[in-house]
Amino acid sequence: MEQPFIPLDTLYRLPWTLPDNGITWLEPTYHCNLHCFGCYRRNIKDSDKPFEDVKHELDFYQSQRKTDCISIAGGEPLLYPHIVELVAEIKSRGLKPIVNTNGALLTKELLHELKKAGVFGFTFHIDSKQGKGRGPKWEGKDELELNELRLELAEMVAAEGGIACSFNATVYEDTLRYVPDLVEWAHKHIDIVNTMVFILFRYITPSLPFDFYAGDKKIQWDDILYHSEDEIPTDLMAPDVVNEIRKKYPDFAPAAYLNGTERADHYKWLLTERLGTKDKVFGYAGKKLLEMTESFYHLFKDRYLSYVSPGTLNLGRTTMFGTWFLDKGIKNALKNYLKYVAVNPLRMLKKVHLQSIMIIQPVDFMPNGDQSMCDGCPDATYWKDENGRERLVWSCRLEEQMQYGDFLRTVPKKKDKNNGEVETEIIINLDKKE
Ligand code: SF4
Repeated sequence: MEQPFIPLDTLYRLPWTLPDNGITWLEPTYHCNLHCFGCYRRNIKDSDKPFEDVKHELDFYQSQRKTDCISIAGGEPLLYPHIVELVAEIKSRGLKPIVNTNGALLTKELLHELKKAGVFGFTFHIDSKQGKGRGPKWEGKDELELNELRLELAEMVAAEGGIACSFNATVYEDTLRYVPDLVEWAHKHIDIVNTMVFILFRYITPSLPFDFYAGDKKIQWDDILYHSEDEIPTDLMAPDVVNEIRKKYPDFAPAAYLNGTERADHYKWLLTERLGTKDKVFGYAGKKLLEMTESFYHLFKDRYLSYVSPGTLNLGRTTMFGTWFLDKGIKNALKNYLKYVAVNPLRMLKKVHLQSIMIIQPVDFMPNGDQSMCDGCPDATYWKDENGRERLVWSCRLEEQMQYGDFLRTVPKKKDKNNGEVETEIIINLDKKE
């Protein structure tokens, strides 16, 4: 039997579920100032939602789901005219507002306003396939050249103080090779960069062996927003990224994961926590630290933890001394730290930080047409269908609801005797069955 790439008994399964989760996703606008190649959302001008409607979505979330933070995404949330009020509204509800932005419109003044309104953190999406919207300075830059932009933003956030700073990037087959250098860059700036997120590229391409259906209607695959006429690889998996990172960091050890809805041994969200100073990584937290953190947080706050404040992440040394006897990974990190300070005791003056590295692997198609999504979808968002039914749906595939009023089903293409493709029949009609 094929063994999981990382034995599941060495990982903590994040306890996030549909009604009780660390994160919930809010899109106040579908308008964006960039045109990223891998984006899953149509860019719609004049699509800002009325503020009252956004507040209704927040009411709906709070009626359906315990959540620690609200990721304000889009579109580009900094284009939303009520962004400062929205951050204040989320904060006033006792939730952490996280702004998921490309950062192009962030100024020191706006940052200050958002801080006053209660912003908890930023996740900046920066990668090399974001088009020309950032202006000539960043046009054509590769992933590593974009570190200059990442650092500008991280320093701006750090100068304001007390705000969590994360970066995410979509990873394509041709940009996978940059990931270890990005992880190294994040290490160099472990004092001001709290999290790196790598999202694996998914798209619909001509060679996918499926037909697509909305209810009983067959959909032309090239009508679906996220498709490419060119054959581009769309099957990167989390272990590919881990293997790549291990070329530079052989000990790189994830500690927690979310499984797929169809595959228990898929790492849809794969979380690694490392401890280090700016010049040395001491080690990686194991599953117990993550389990303790989530369990205690839930016990006291009645919700699961997602984003952590920079102040807490700077407590790496306290974490090592306080939890080494409960977590093997931390024990190992503490040993390495003690050796490090034994060489030069002045090194004790350096702060030890925690830093998260997350790999997200969106939809995978199973050979029988089942679709494996992230179990408990942390990025679930609001959707009201044409019958007025409100619910939480996968934000990565909201476009299907907007375009077809349903999530698309995938049906394996039928082959004739000569292995040529023939039109599929509808095997199951979910609408009629209901
Ligand atoms: S299912 Fe889609 S929206 Fe939900 S967490 Fe996974 S990638 Fe994100």
